[in-house]
Amino acid sequence: MKLFCTAIAPLLLPLNIALFAQSERPNILFIMSDDHASHAISAYGGRLAEVAPTPNLDRLAKEGMRFANAFVTNSICTPSRAVIWTGKYSHINGVYKFTGLDQSQPTLPKYMQAHGYQTGFVGKYHLHTNPVGFDHWSILPGQGKYHDTAFVEMGDENPSGVVRQGKATPNPGWHSTDIITEKALDWFQNIRDPDKPFFYMLHYKAPHDLWQHAHRYDDYLADVDIPEPATLFDHGSGRSPALDQSTQEIGGRSHHTQFTPEIKAMPYSDEKRRLVYQEYMKRYLRCVKGIDDNVGKVLDYLDTSGLAANTVVVYTADQGFFLGEHGLYDKRIIYEESLRIPLMVRWPGTVNFDIALNLDYPETLLDIARHPVPEDMQGRSLVPLLKSERAEDWRNAFYYRYYYSHFDTPSHYGIRTRNEKLIYYDTRDEWELYDLRSDPNEVVNLAANPEWSSKLAELKQELTRLQRAVGDDPTDIGDQPRTGNAILDQLERERLERRIRAADRN
Ligand code: CA
Repeated sequence: MKLFCTAIAPLLLPLNIALFAQSERPNILFIMSDDHASHAISAYGGRLAEVAPTPNLDRLAKEGMRFANAFVTNSICTPSRAVIWTGKYSHINGVYKFTGLDQSQPTLPKYMQAHGYQTGFVGKYHLHTNPVGFDHWSILPGQGKYHDTAFVEMGDENPSGVVRQGKATPNPGWHSTDIITEKALDWFQNIRDPDKPFFYMLHYKAPHDLWQHAHRYDDYLADVDIPEPATLFDHGSGRSPALDQSTQEIGGRSHHTQFTPEIKAMPYSDEKRRLVYQEYMKRYLRCVKGIDDNVGKVLDYLDTSGLAANTVVVYTADQGFFLGEHGLYDKRIIYEESLRIPLMVRWPGTVNFDIALNLDYPETLLDIARHPVPEDMQGRSLVPLLKSERAEDWRNAFYYRYYYSHFDTPSHYGIRTRNEKLIYYDTRDEWELYDLRSDPNEVVNLAANPEWSSKLAELKQELTRLQRAVGDDPTDIGDQPRTGNAILDQLERERLERRIRAADRN
């Protein structure tokens, strides 16, 4: 059943009419942050909404549509970005892990550029191969730096075709979130071609680890006790031991959350987890505050320049993030906090509860640009949902797959329906099943519960059906990435060999 709330729709009419009345193609500003969990945006509610509000991001929800059920098909940075670039699952676009996008395939920016859009990109890119399809770009090499942020500018590429091997120009004294915004505003003011519609991708590095916020936020939340999630002290009882294998644990084996020598010296305990959680969340939310302030700056510019009337603004993240739930930080795992992404689109409408995916983004943006949706893309345009049209045949479930890479998080695949989640840890042959209605925190594994045996069988069938429908082969474990770049292929082979040697040592 579709659940549309239309209570405040009349307030939005002027903007809606302006957008719908346009016979020409609207501009598209696609803003994406790295690792920004939806439950760290106050428009999404939750325990952090009051202590760390995000009024500027909330504007997008108020003035447009907030997707309450948007998810990724692989909760990890580079692969999710590749899905957004191609509209195809990892096993089709070739980016299973952190390997790099083969730019010879059709991509969203290429389509937009060929369609007459002026295309631009600024910020965190992380697809490794030099971008194709942009009239202008300015990119952080690799993960990039939070402070004194350097960029590889278009024209400074290395002949290797690998972005991080290009010439990087530093910006002393700048924080990445501020300089990325500054460069975007410069593009709008000095590079934008007023005779063409634009497609501009503005990608923040924050709030990715190691959560180095701008110094002006040093005192933000300093005296606030950050509310804890219900599952902070979850130790995975009753579920697959897969969770124990991961080193994403807060204050445990994780090297990213040993913030100070004092913390590092403490033996692991629940009390240590509690202490580290507070420190982690303050750093993370200070990074989020920087994004919120900067998005406000961009929205203000669109308003004062008059561009807002014909610019669709999208805000999203490349995946969700654990903010202490299950005692974790980071992403990867199909559990809700990692799987779920924010998605807000300044367009008519209010809140939508259908299942939206990162896989749908290129189809949606091309549709908004009045470009036919390529038939080989695997998602679906969200435009009917944005127009609040009824879509009775909308998906009720989707397929997810994570391939083993860092943090010893085991590979797994599964499906999420509207009400249940089925997870299969393929290298361990272990199942988890959750009833998301009675157990939204995913702590009661029903896979061995006899009362759920017929539901389990039904969901296993659905998993196989969806796996086949997207053309995935469960035996394809992602160890043959297709980057289209000889240097990246070699680097990946060396990385795999190092991992095999390390495994042999253990
Ligand atoms: Ca990410």
